[in-house]
This record gives sequence, structure tokens and C-alpha cells, in this order.
Amino acid sequence: MLRQDFSRGDPKRRNIDYRKTQFAEPTFKEIEYPHRLNLYELPPTADITLEQFEQWAIDRLRILAELEACSFRNKSLPETAEHMKPLLEKYLPLDTNTSNSTKLAAERQKDHYSHFILRLAFSSTEDLRRRFSRVETTLFRLRMSEESMRERNAFVQTLNLDCELVSDEERTKYKDELAAISGAKKATEEEIWYKVEWDRVPELVEGRRVFLKAGKAYVPSKEQASMVVAEFTKRLDRSLEMTARALPRLDEDDRLSPILDHLSKNFITPDVSYGSGTSSVPGADISARNIDALSSQFPLCMQHLHRSLRRDGHLKHYGRLQYTLFLKGMGLNLEECLVFWRSSFHKFTDDTFNKEYRYNIRHAYGDVGGDSNRRGGGYGPFSCQKILTEHPPGPGDSHGCPYRHFNLENLTALLQSTGITDRSVLQGVKEDKESQKFHMACNRVFEYVHKNEIKRAKDEGVMTSAQLETIVHPNEYFKRSYLLKNLGKVNSEDVKMEG
Ligand code: SF4
Repeated sequence: MLRQDFSRGDPKRRNIDYRKTQFAEPTFKEIEYPHRLNLYELPPTADITLEQFEQWAIDRLRILAELEACSFRNKSLPETAEHMKPLLEKYLPLDTNTSNSTKLAAERQKDHYSHFILRLAFSSTEDLRRRFSRVETTLFRLRMSEESMRERNAFVQTLNLDCELVSDEERTKYKDELAAISGAKKATEEEIWYKVEWDRVPELVEGRRVFLKAGKAYVPSKEQASMVVAEFTKRLDRSLEMTARALPRLDEDDRLSPILDHLSKNFITPDVSYGSGTSSVPGADISARNIDALSSQFPLCMQHLHRSLRRDGHLKHYGRLQYTLFLKGMGLNLEECLVFWRSSFHKFTDDTFNKEYRYNIRHAYGDVGGDSNRRGGGYGPFSCQKILTEHPPGPGDSHGCPYRHFNLENLTALLQSTGITDRSVLQGVKEDKESQKFHMACNRVFEYVHKNEIKRAKDEGVMTSAQLETIVHPNEYFKRSYLLKNLGKVNSEDVKMEG
């Protein structure tokens, strides 16, 4: 792994040939993980493959993106914990010492390494550092709150937290003030109090959960977790600054830079792929003649493409590509897709259609083209991340994401034309758009349109919160939408989709 502990200020280091040092053998240091919690002080040094490097980072990114989505939705800590539980089990499991799991070391190693990889990816700008620190702190707080008292205490003892025990004398002197803080009639003899610099526990000061005297905060032992969380944030912020200074050295490593660059663009909407295994929607008639009926379940980007196609009998290149791959991701086979496009391009002769359009559709399916395209089955459907960030639409184009690429007036008109007239939803979409949380606007509309079905699915236990993970892919939007609208008609086991 890459080390980050160097200083740009040291003139001798400027002469180092980093090409040599980067690929030099790292000083290997065996790291053990006696605790589930980690303050990530030691950078990892063992070898991992590039695939692990990327996959572990992507898995952690899904967790961080979802945590950020929880905070966008103003979820409380207990609500966030409930929402995140199945996702953490899926992407970043961390068993406790008492679980006797044989995977403890591997899980903790993945947690450790993925934290450091994303630290590299998200240290380049102040905005990324701030967001990374905030979501990592939330993750740490979640884990802390779920830790048993015994394991938590054992972990805290390893931290060398710089805090002083309040003496009996002082406890007596401030007994009324301490009692007011702890909510007891009088300060109990048994209660242990710590004394720390007040700026080390800003959360507790803000919540008036500590007694302040002469620049010191008197913290009751029950608030120890907040103290540890504050320490986590402080150390992480400091490390992120150091990592940012080390970044120029990484630019020369052409194996890692593209991965890190890609990761850093994926903070809000991870660029999830939507494989063929996830495409089938049980019980749905995915055929050319049924696309009109199904289009009401599409996300706004695809509804707009469908309507433009019906209006003009034509779509420009990127619109065709975005829509074709979405239809392919739904499970529409190549023959049906060709039928669909041929009938949609009704102003064109067979000859023109065959010459100008048929090949591209077949190419998207991997039916023609070079060997690698055919072996890979063509292209995969575009994720929100790709649609939001690549090939912005120009005049006359219909592709892209309306939440991002439409102005507010046109977006509101489009939403209203699909039946979204609720003022609070439209206001929420406006605010999401203004703060550039485009996919949150899309999720807001999804949750509004399906609010009754979501409630029913949750009540009946056929959909877990993992399946209600924030949507970051148009095909996931359609699949969930279809399954929710058809609750009861499809087998409940099918509704329990992969999430
Ligand atoms: Fe489509 Fe994604 Fe935009 Fe929703 S957020 S409209 S699914 S691109």
C-alpha cells in the first residue's frame, strides 16, 4: 500500500525519484485487528490486487453514498442505523469479537484498506475532504453505538485519549452544576467525570451536555462515545490534510490515478453497473408492443426519451444509445428491440432504417462489432452517474437527466405532465436541484409516486430497507417501480430482489 507520511517542506525529498520509491518494496508491517472499531492511524502495507483495491473501494463508496443520502433525508441516527444495517452486512460486514466468525480478519482488513483507498480518492479538494470526513464520522458513530460496552471500553483504552479524571474535590465543589448536566437531583458519587479542552467535544458543548469551566468541558462517562467520535473526526481531518499534500506524488502512478479519479467522481451516485443477472423483472411482458404501457414506470430521463420518440418519430444518436441500453437492461431482447425502433421510426423507409440505424442497435447488444464487443455482449445500460456527468445534451437532444439538464421551469412542466402536481414535492425537487442533489430529486419523486406501495411492502415484509436503497440507476428505478406497482401479482419471493 502507499504510504502518506512525508512532508513536502523537506527540500531533500523534492529530489527523490518517486518512480523508484513508489515501486520500491513497502516496509511490510503485520497489522492485527483486535477491535472492530478502528481509528485508522496506521496505513496498510500488505499487498492487495488491483481488483481488490477497486472493488473494496466501490463497496465502501456504496455505504458512504447511502449514509450521505440518509443525511439528505434528515434521518435520525436510529433511523439511519436501521436503514444501513442490511447494506452494511452486504458491502462492509464487521463481525464482533464474540461472534466467533472465521472472517473477522478479512472483514477488518477490507474495512481498513477501503478507508485508506477512499481517503486517497477524496482528499484532493476541501469539499471532498469535508464530505468524506462527515460520512466516515457517521459510520464510526453508528458502529460505536452498536458496540457492546465491554468491546467499546477495551477499544477506548487503546486510544490514549488526553483527558483528565475529575477529582473528588472538584466533584464536590461543582456538585450542583454536574447534577444539572447529568439530570440527577444531585451528582452521584459513582459517576465518573472527565475533563477535556472544550473544543474537543463541540457536539456536547452545542447540545449543552457538558459543564464548562475555565475552558474545560466536564464530560460524564456516559458521553464518552461523543468524545471518542470527536477524536475520530479530529484525527481524520488532520490525516486528510496530510494525504492531500502527498497527492502530487501519486499522479505519476498510472495504475492508481485513473481508479482514484473515477472514485472521486462517484461520491454521490456510485457508478453501479446493472448486470444481466439483475435485469429480469418477473412476470413483466417486456416486448416491443408493451413499451408504451410500461413507460409510465420509467424514471423521468427515460419517460422524456420515450415521449420525444413518440412525438418526433426520431431520436438523435445519444438519445438512441441511452434508451436502447435501458431497454436492453430491462430485458428487451434484440429482435424485439429492432421491432420497437423500426415501428417508432415510422417516417423512415425500411432501406434508410436498415442502413442508418439497425447496425447501431445490434452493436449495442454485442451482435456485431469487434470480438471484445461481441464477447462482452455489447454495452451495459448507463447508470445515473454516467448520464449525469457525461455527454451533456445539446439543442435538439433528448438524452441526459432532466433533473440536471432541464431548467427549473421545464423540469416542473415535465413533472406536472407526468402527474406530479403536489406542491411540496415540486418544492423539494427545486431545492434538490439547487443544491445539485439531482438523484435525490429523482428518489423523492419515486417515493412520492409509490408511497402507498412502499408502505404496504414494508408492512408486509416483502421489501426490506436494503431494497429501498437510494436509486442510482435508471433500470433499478424501473424494476422497483414495476415490482411495487404489481405487489400481490408477482410472487413475493420475486419482490425480494437483490437490492
Ligand atoms: Fe434518470 Fe438517474 Fe436522472 Fe433519475 S436521477 S432521471 S434515473 S438519470
